[in-house]
Amino acid sequence: MAVKLVTTVQELHSEGARLLAAKRGTSQGLVPTMGALHEGHAALARAAVEQNDVVVATIFVNPLQFGDALDLDRYPRTLEADLALLDREGVDLVFAPSVDEVYPGGEPLVRVTSGRLGEKWEGASRPGHFDGALTVVAKLLHYGLPAAGLAAGGGTGGGLPAYRAYFGQKDAQQLALVRRMVADLNFPVEVVGVPTVRAADGLALSSRNRFLSPEEREGALVLSRALRLLEERAHAREPLDLESAQALVESQPLVALDYFDVVDPATLEPLAENCRETPFRGEGLALIAAKVGPVRLIDNMPLSS
Ligand code: AMP
Repeated sequence: MAVKLVTTVQELHSEGARLLAAKRGTSQGLVPTMGALHEGHAALARAAVEQNDVVVATIFVNPLQFGDALDLDRYPRTLEADLALLDREGVDLVFAPSVDEVYPGGEPLVRVTSGRLGEKWEGASRPGHFDGALTVVAKLLHYGLPAAGLAAGGGTGGGLPAYRAYFGQKDAQQLALVRRMVADLNFPVEVVGVPTVRAADGLALSSRNRFLSPEEREGALVLSRALRLLEERAHAREPLDLESAQALVESQPLVALDYFDVVDPATLEPLAENCRETPFRGEGLALIAAKVGPVRLIDNMPLSS
């Protein structure tokens, strides 16, 4: 296997610097994940490998973003298979730190606050989730800075390397928040969003899909069907008739709908006037979340006409 696994920040910096120097690299990509990797993560890695000389993936199940200790405990951990997938995609370096390595003093006192954008939708159902997620993303973006490695002894012979970080559109609210954090707090990184990867039947790939029974998985397909319906209506410049799409989801007995709305893609504020009886115009984002059996699923669809 060509991919190299490191578990400490020091090794990450020295290996990153060594790779940049060896490849005479001018760019570095970072792909943050929680492991249990699937083809959605592979798409992120592939985009990063295409666009950068050196690619680092991180695998860290962040306790700070789990409200429920049981959910954290149960989160799948599949390091060997993850390394094989990342190796196949051409990732150079995997940083899989322990909780102590990331939080050496215990839980951090000072954290990133996700603000109003982090309180709605997923944030409303999972209080504190986005503060925890943004706090670890901030730390991972700092760990992955190519300049930190260069200071440790590397060198590309002129100028700082370009730095890009890859996030999935699947977690649309997280992506919007990371973009805002990077813009609002001037992180020296370009955020790249990667389209959602789906199974052949339409279900968005997720590390949590493995907890669905065959019947629940079948029932869960109504989420992507309803999103596809809105996409087709938007494309045809028809009224979205969100209510009929909501009714379709609610007709599936195994699915308990949490929210299903059409929002502005950047602010995630509802597009109240643009999604009912008048023809859809412009850009929107349909967001959906539901509990299917024991599993909470989220999905979304960018809309444009
Ligand atoms: P996770 O390991 O679930 O925290 O996800 C790590 C990254 O992979 C996040 O940026 C996710 O948005 C992205 N991701 C997860 N599932 C998918 C998918 N089906 N398609 C594209 N990206 C995904």
